[in-house]
Amino acid sequence: MSTKYIFITGGVVSSLGKGIVAASLAKLLKAMGLSVTVQKFDPYINIDPGTLNPYEHGECFVTDDGAETDLDLGHYERFLGVHTSKANNVTAGRIYYTVITKEREGAYLGKTVQIIPHITDEIKRSIFLLGQDGKYDVIITEIGGTVGDMESHPFLEAVRQLQWELPDEDALSIHLTLVPYLSAAKEIKTKPTQHSVQMLQQIGVKPDVIICRTEHSLNEDVRRKVALFCNVKLGHVIQSLDAWSIYEVPLNLQKEHLDELVVRKLKIDNYQRPDLEKWCKVLSDLKNADKVVNIALVGKYVALQDAYKSILESFVHAGAAMHCKVKVHSILSELITYENASEKLQGIDGVLVAPGFGERGLEGKVHAIHYCRENGVPFFGICLGMQMAVVEFARNVLGMADAASTEVNPHTTHPVIDMMEDQKKTTTKGGTMRLGAYQCCLEKDSLAEKIYGCELISERHRHRYEFNSLYQEAFQKAGMVCTGHNPDTGLVEVVEIPSHPFFIGVQFHPEYKSTPENPQPLFCSFVSAAMKYAAREKK
Ligand code: GLN
Repeated sequence: MSTKYIFITGGVVSSLGKGIVAASLAKLLKAMGLSVTVQKFDPYINIDPGTLNPYEHGECFVTDDGAETDLDLGHYERFLGVHTSKANNVTAGRIYYTVITKEREGAYLGKTVQIIPHITDEIKRSIFLLGQDGKYDVIITEIGGTVGDMESHPFLEAVRQLQWELPDEDALSIHLTLVPYLSAAKEIKTKPTQHSVQMLQQIGVKPDVIICRTEHSLNEDVRRKVALFCNVKLGHVIQSLDAWSIYEVPLNLQKEHLDELVVRKLKIDNYQRPDLEKWCKVLSDLKNADKVVNIALVGKYVALQDAYKSILESFVHAGAAMHCKVKVHSILSELITYENASEKLQGIDGVLVAPGFGERGLEGKVHAIHYCRENGVPFFGICLGMQMAVVEFARNVLGMADAASTEVNPHTTHPVIDMMEDQKKTTTKGGTMRLGAYQCCLEKDSLAEKIYGCELISERHRHRYEFNSLYQEAFQKAGMVCTGHNPDTGLVEVVEIPSHPFFIGVQFHPEYKSTPENPQPLFCSFVSAAMKYAAREKK
């Protein structure tokens, strides 16, 4: 079978959940025994989202191969249970950069370099690159942005060309739109969808399927109207009702027969009956969780849900695994002081201090950690959260009053967190951190080793600073032990306080690898520790 290409575009408004729809369709096809991957095109000029503030663009997701990518790749991995790579996220910036670099190298000598064909060719090349070794039966490409945006144009033009170039049974175009409900008129309106499809057709892209995001079920009349005016078959109008969990979306789309429609149109016949048993079990565990724990997420980007997307999803997965509803309370770290920490963390069963960069809110993180350490509250620090646990311990246990990370205080007399040696040489900011998967050796009988159930793990990283090994012994003697090291460089990756009920900080980002079907063990153990803490409180 030749590789099949599915293109997903979005219309009317942004934030309709194209990423979730792409991931859900991929999940359905994978459950039918097909090999699938999902790719995202982002129409902005940054080479990758690594240099973007999370408030601009949500979390930056990191792949095993060290690419800083759009958070939708996190959805793809969580739904599909397979790892993505650099090739799964391409920005307009990367496309233009490649073309301009080639131009300087003389690859187009004598030619005027233009959007068509050079930019569109490069876009198509990035799509085919994923399918080149025949690894995938289906490649789903999500085009970021909304139809009508100026930046998306070259990507849509590339889709138009591919629809024309590929055999009919090898390409499918899906358009996701909003079908709003006007409560005053008690009516579902299809006009914005009609306009969006008109705009798409002006570019020359013909949708085969329209997926309508809607708060209310679409009746036959509405479906007929969308089908007629958007030029698709009646059965090709699919509703995507607001779901109680994003993980329910594949099942909702299956009820609408999207999976059958796709294999029929793409003439795929080597598929099996979809096996979604494990997925459904996670959903029912999630729904039927009878206990509740309250977790504080202490960070500086708490006003935007998407900023800590993978962490929030990891808690959903861990909750399902532990049959417990995890209520995450976001607390802005800059509001926490030594005096108010106990009040701010009242009723909290566990504290996660989030990753981050820069000075804002750092002291609040230190106070929150201080409170957890002294009061036996389960603590879990990720990256900057781990680094601040080290700073807190240095200041309040080892008496190093000005201990700090040199990221914020280069003149401290106790640089307990310092820049990694090879980082000192880097002068540019984009893609230059320590990125991607690295192995880590866990000390036998440490909390980390017990949690993972093995001594050698691999997790993803995104940082420039590290625990300063000169201080290891002093920390160890005072009760904070380093229980995870990189086997090649010796870098400290995990710290723990064995005398505390649950106190662990990790330099890596375990949240990137958690999936509903394979919840991350650190998150599960943290939730379990929080459940114990909650039960203890009640006694
Ligand atoms: N700012 C810290 C560093 O660069 C932590 C990074 C993070 O939390 N991802 O090391």
